Amino acid sequence: MWKPGQKAPASGFYECDAGCWHRFSTNVAGHVLPPLPDGCAGTGWRLVEQRPGSAE
Ligand SMILES: [Zn+2]
Repeated sequence: MWKPGQKAPASGFYECDAGCWHRFSTNVAGHVLPPLPDGCAGTGWRLVEQRPGSAE
């Protein structure tokens, strides 16, 4: 789980940890994770789907 402002460890889809379907995607590893949306009860983002090839 990564906090807003940290760099994404991999490209792919991220979801807030509160389970309220807030999603964020990036195709660039190292992209800074955005703040959670207003009204979101979560505290960070978790990687739900890593894109193939993003490990390089
Ligand atoms: Zn949320």
